[in-house]
Amino acid sequence: MLFFFLFNFNPLIWEMVNSCLPESIFYNLLRLQNFKTRYSLSESAFACANFLYNKLLEYRLDSVYFQHFQSGYAPNVIGIKRGANQLDSVYIVICCHYDAISDNPYLFAPGADDNGSGTASVLEVCRILSKYNFEKTIRFIFFSGEEQGLLGSYYYCSLAKYINRDSIISAVNIDMIGYSIPQRDSASVIGKPNNPNCQPLVDYFIACADTYTNLKCIRAIIDRPRSDHASFNRFGYLAIHIRENLNVFNPYYHTAGDTIGAGFNDLNLVYEITKAAIATIASLSNPISVSFLPITKNIIYNKNKNNLNLKIAYNPLGQKIAVRNKGMYFIKENSQFKKLIILK
Ligand SMILES: [Zn+2]
Repeated sequence: MLFFFLFNFNPLIWEMVNSCLPESIFYNLLRLQNFKTRYSLSESAFACANFLYNKLLEYRLDSVYFQHFQSGYAPNVIGIKRGANQLDSVYIVICCHYDAISDNPYLFAPGADDNGSGTASVLEVCRILSKYNFEKTIRFIFFSGEEQGLLGSYYYCSLAKYINRDSIISAVNIDMIGYSIPQRDSASVIGKPNNPNCQPLVDYFIACADTYTNLKCIRAIIDRPRSDHASFNRFGYLAIHIRENLNVFNPYYHTAGDTIGAGFNDLNLVYEITKAAIATIASLSNPISVSFLPITKNIIYNKNKNNLNLKIAYNPLGQKIAVRNKGMYFIKENSQFKKLIILK
């Protein structure tokens, strides 16, 4: 498995990581807290969904939409940044849940740490990555209904698996990253040991954090299905959970006290985790400098399709999940490359 760590330092990724701004993260976090509540069934959760939708439009993603999963619940918000060399159904995910809960959830559930911190972080990852071009497609997903039992992500993943037949290369879930105590300002990088084995993705994230940031990571190979990564795992997809140190208990968890300054107290930790997420998602997605960006028209109307290079998409386990050859795409289904798509 050594070859996973043989990725070179990439100055383009270094540039992306260094354009991350803590004040940009904080500004969005403040905006999220100001919704007063983001309880999935509250009106203001719908307002928050609109806020996220407009943010993704502002970042000029290729596609932005709501995914409604149950009446009464605020929807999932999904943004797609299309890769140059891949199908829309082969992609990397960075996700979080934006809903919150407390003892009086319709009135006040500020959720600054759980999960305003992760939501502000994913928005910042999106703000940065949206300015670059990648070979692979990236999806930025903001789930709702997490606090009612991972409802939004379960719906998304079941559809991805059985209806859309998506090949999700990897998913990184960011949930609760803004609370620390002295000497424990580190991140736990959590992945299942099997079914599926997510250790390579855990190690990949830590290697990216070590290469490009000052983040201290704790490797946690455990089955801890307490956030949206569990929905991906349930349908067989590689997914990990990034959170504040697992050995630190946030006393404001799920209370009205989960506000900036109390439940959220470590902007620097959020900043370092966000940089590590930028590096990980960018590395997985193969950044390309603008001058090498293939022109779509040339591919579509290329008279000699045999000149197209063989393109292979791998997940971090080194498994081929999609192949493009001579203008045709093959997607892996039930361990065979069978779905055939011909470029028009
Ligand atoms: Zn949470």
